[in-house]
Amino acid sequence: MALLELRDLHVSYSTPDAEVGAVVGVDLDVDTGEVVGVVGESGSGKTTLILAALRLVPLPGRIVKGSISLGGGDLRGLSPARMRTLRGKDIAYVPQAAMNSMNPVMTVGAQITESLDLHTDLNGRQTTARVAEVLEMVELEGKIARRYPHQLSGGMRQRAIIAMALAPNPQLVLADEPTSGLDVLVRVQLLRLLRRLVDELGLALLMVSHDLPLVARWCDRAVVMYAGRIVEEGPAPELLTNPLHPYAWALARSLPRLHGEDDLERIPGEVPDLSRVPVGCPFNPRCIHAFDLCRERAPQLISVGGHNVACHLHAG
Ligand code: SF4
Repeated sequence: MALLELRDLHVSYSTPDAEVGAVVGVDLDVDTGEVVGVVGESGSGKTTLILAALRLVPLPGRIVKGSISLGGGDLRGLSPARMRTLRGKDIAYVPQAAMNSMNPVMTVGAQITESLDLHTDLNGRQTTARVAEVLEMVELEGKIARRYPHQLSGGMRQRAIIAMALAPNPQLVLADEPTSGLDVLVRVQLLRLLRRLVDELGLALLMVSHDLPLVARWCDRAVVMYAGRIVEEGPAPELLTNPLHPYAWALARSLPRLHGEDDLERIPGEVPDLSRVPVGCPFNPRCIHAFDLCRERAPQLISVGGHNVACHLHAG
C-alpha cells in the first residue's frame, strides 16, 4: 500500500450550464521515498489534483467521487477540523509564488516558529533549535531567520517556504510548481535540494510542473495529464526520451531547444474548454495520429512496456 493513494478521483466545478470535470477518474500512488511529477499544460487539472488531495478544492468545485487515503486512512471521511490538523502536520503544501504565501511583516524565523507552534508540542528552546535545524536542511544560513521575505531572493524565499513546510516533520509534501518564476540554475538547485530531502528524510513528494525536463531529471515517476485525465504514466526519464502518448510526445518536443524560447516547438491547438471536452479521446482535435475511433470512443489507460497509456494506437 502506497503512502498516498488516490482512487477513481473525480473533481467537478459547478457552472450555471453544467458540471465541469476538472479531474476525471484519476488513480495515483505516491510512496515513501518517492518523487512523482505531474506534468501538463495550464488547464490540464494538475493543480486541482493537488488541491483535491489536500481537500482544499475551492468552491464551486467539489470532489464528487473517489477516495483519498494517507497511510491507509481515508481522508474524505475526516471532519474539517481533523483535516486542518493533518494539513501542515502530516501533509505539507509548498505553493507556487513564494512571496504571496509568506507573511511580509514576519521574519522567516517567526513564520517557521508559527508553523511549529501550530503543529507540534515543542517548547521554546526546542522550537528555536528546530528553526535552526530546518534552515540548515534547506541550505540557508541561520541568520536568515531574522530576515523578512522581501530581503530574500526568489530562490531563498522558496527554500524558506520549504523549511516552513518541513518543520513539523510531515510524511508527504505536495508542491505546486515549486520552481515557477525562478531562473534555470535556481530551479535545478531547488529540485536537487527537494530530491535530497526526500531521500534523506524518507518523505513522499508529489509535485506538479509544466517543465517535463525537470520532472524527467529529478522525479522517479512522471504522470502526464490532459483535460483532467491521466494520459500516460511511467518512469520519469522515459517520459522524456520514450513517450508513448502523442500528447506526451508533443510535450517532450515542445522543450526549449539549444537556442532557447525562439526555437520552442509549440503544441498546435488549445487545451479544450473543460465544459466542452471533445467526444472520444480528448486530445483528438490536436493529434496528428487521430483516426475514426479516436473521435468515437475514449481510450482506457492500459499497461504498455512499463508505462500506462491511454491511446488507441497502443491498444491491442
Ligand atoms: Fe491521438 Fe487517437 Fe491516441 Fe488520442 S487515442 S492520442 S487521438 S491516436
